[in-house]
Amino acid sequence: MTKRLKGMLDILPEDGEIINFIISNFEKIVKLYGFSFIRTPILEYAELYYRSTGITSDIVNKEMYTFYDKKERLLSLRPEGTPGVIRAIIENQLVLPQRLYYLGPMFRYERPQKGRLREHYQLGLEIVGEKSPYSDFEIIKIANQFFSQIFLKDTTTLVNSIGCEKCRPKFKEVFLSYLKDKIEFLCPDCQERKEKNPLRIFDCKNEKCQKIIKESPKVKDFLCFECKDHFDKFLSFLEKSNIKYKIDENLVRGLDYYTKTTFEFISESLGEKISIGGGGRYDNLMKELGGNDAPSVGFALGLERILFALKENKNLPKEKKTLMVIYDCEDSFYEALKLVDLLRENNIPSYINPDLESLKKQLKIADKLNMKYVIIIGEREREKGSYLLRDMISGKQEEIEKEKIIEKLKEVINV
Ligand SMILES: [Zn+2]
Ligand SMILES: [Zn+2]
Repeated sequence: MTKRLKGMLDILPEDGEIINFIISNFEKIVKLYGFSFIRTPILEYAELYYRSTGITSDIVNKEMYTFYDKKERLLSLRPEGTPGVIRAIIENQLVLPQRLYYLGPMFRYERPQKGRLREHYQLGLEIVGEKSPYSDFEIIKIANQFFSQIFLKDTTTLVNSIGCEKCRPKFKEVFLSYLKDKIEFLCPDCQERKEKNPLRIFDCKNEKCQKIIKESPKVKDFLCFECKDHFDKFLSFLEKSNIKYKIDENLVRGLDYYTKTTFEFISESLGEKISIGGGGRYDNLMKELGGNDAPSVGFALGLERILFALKENKNLPKEKKTLMVIYDCEDSFYEALKLVDLLRENNIPSYINPDLESLKKQLKIADKLNMKYVIIIGEREREKGSYLLRDMISGKQEEIEKEKIIEKLKEVINV
């Protein structure tokens, strides 16, 4: 038997219901804030990610699925959503500002472990062409509103500022001189990071590196006037809201294009080290990819991590009550089909098995499929103009007049 690839997931029907619940709530909320849907290809020129996500980032460096196609073009499965969205805005000359949302699979060749998948779905937002710190705040507000809407109640938002191209070089200098006599204590990855992109050392999970980072100077204390003003205003919006947040001075996020605000969402049920999503401001990305200057901010949430957190929390949406119509012969089958049509017209989800099995066998099927209710149509019921409604949990049966069935079901099924 051929099995699925390592680090990739089948979403089975039980989780599928929860996934749909998450997505539909996400779409409902972002539309309230004026976001429109965008879909970009899963496959892009690898160069797009080299230029945006950054050649020194772990994602591009180690985790991308990159290969040559039959015409020797170097392509990558997208590791994240933002670069494709920005490329699409530039290429299709969309007017700015734009508020866009996307959802779809992302691919990273990581070592599979809890919550880390090689194919995972992201729900993302991009505000392109707005520079106010209010946009940074609003995007966090949307995420938190979404979390509470789906009953994910234990989330905290971590925030930080990593400055801009004006103030970051000064910090880098100070940071490098701080590291000077500690190089041998850094992990091999960080020794390499120190040469290519020292800020990324803050991302390292290695214990020894964490210790060094703890004592180190922080980028937040080296912000230029503009960046500091932006961060202060952003914090004051957060302060006035009832969003639970913490400043995390080590939060730099693993992407090259971030400027000023960075943030991350964590769910206590998954543990502090695993985030369910995050994002930040990226004021220069559009220009770097060949477009106009357009200050922007966005986030991406991991759909599977939200699913795992919800399951961990046991705050799952209530299961939909389901119903099966069963029948005792071919004549009753045609009567049953009419009833099923009527139920569906009235938004009552219902199932009928067309295989003409015995009542006993159909009841067994209903049981296997976890049906909450069964409507039985037999010769006797047809003669009397009624249906038999069976509650599969209590086993109680009730005879209902044909005309009253919809009314009765709406009462018990709660549609
Ligand atoms: Zn700055
Ligand atoms: Zn390290």
